[in-house]
Amino acid sequence: MIAYTIYLPQVKGLLKKWSMDLQVFVPTMVDDGFYEFKSWSDDIEISWDYDLCYTSLKKFVLPAQEDLISFDMKKYSAGAVIEAPKQLLFGVHPYDIKAMNQLDQLMDTDSVDVNYRARRDNTVVFGLERVHVADTAFWSGVEADRVDHGYDLYWTRISPGAFFVQVGSARGEEMLTMDGPVEKASVAQKEAARRSHLKVMAKAQKNTLNFDWSKTPDLVNKFFNNRTFWREKAKTCLSCGSCNLVCPTCYCFDIKEEADDLLQNGRRYRQWDGCMLSGFAEIAGGHNFRSSPWERYRHRYMRKGKYIFDKLGELGCVGCGRCVRACTARIANPRKIYNEIWEAIKNEV
Ligand code: SF4
Ligand code: SF4
Repeated sequence: MIAYTIYLPQVKGLLKKWSMDLQVFVPTMVDDGFYEFKSWSDDIEISWDYDLCYTSLKKFVLPAQEDLISFDMKKYSAGAVIEAPKQLLFGVHPYDIKAMNQLDQLMDTDSVDVNYRARRDNTVVFGLERVHVADTAFWSGVEADRVDHGYDLYWTRISPGAFFVQVGSARGEEMLTMDGPVEKASVAQKEAARRSHLKVMAKAQKNTLNFDWSKTPDLVNKFFNNRTFWREKAKTCLSCGSCNLVCPTCYCFDIKEEADDLLQNGRRYRQWDGCMLSGFAEIAGGHNFRSSPWERYRHRYMRKGKYIFDKLGELGCVGCGRCVRACTARIANPRKIYNEIWEAIKNEV
């Protein structure tokens, strides 16, 4: 493992350099206790110890709305639209890196999603070790507490003024050393980074699954037909789709087309969709194969707990806890749902 030590005053200089070539996004507080990734500028305060960003980072690689094709009859032109700005996401927590790694697999399976791939290739990811754990998070229970790929550099703050920076790619190392040689990390600094990880892991043990996460697919499968349970859990669901929107692993989208009145200009675009919305499963003839909120609610937990696992061998939930925060009805909580199912049938699995 190659690792360097970077001191806080160096970071500002590097940020300036990086921002000349790509758009840099960093975590910052936008409201009391609420954080988001915002475009870096000299006067923005980086929240090195943020617990969770309200929205997920999927918007940087799969925007909420994106043109795919456009045509212009006057110019006799039509073609694919692929926009992929060069960007750096600096300060991404491991559970969000894991979510992005999962999106990579899903968007590249069967056929490559060229728009997604172009954006992802142009996105540099600098991971950041957490200091605090969001009260809604349970990433320690779903194997999203650390990642071994998907980042260019991984930063751990080992003192108020210093970072232990682990190299994840040649691109990352080049960016770190672009101003000249930097100090190689010592054994003691590596040990400090390890202690920092153990400290946050100890905090994370408060909120977790009560069982080994790999049992989840079997658990939800066995509970699929327990309609009383799902109906009861979803009875106050507003079908608002907020849990889908904030989730870093939800990637469903709808494709739409529009043209002007004279059919001279037009576009095909995609925009986020969500399985909790009432029209999501509506098909021709008005038939809806998940017309009730409770069916959609169950589907979401099946998808996170089993269907993605069947494809990739890991859960479709990284335990970030965003859906728990975003749900106004206070019913979106995968940790609670899976723990309750576990308590009900643990002797059968
Ligand atoms: S289901 Fe909820 S906790 Fe799991 S990854 Fe999505 S938003 Fe995060
Ligand atoms: S579970 Fe909550 S956030 Fe999700 S659709 Fe229902 S009310 Fe909205």
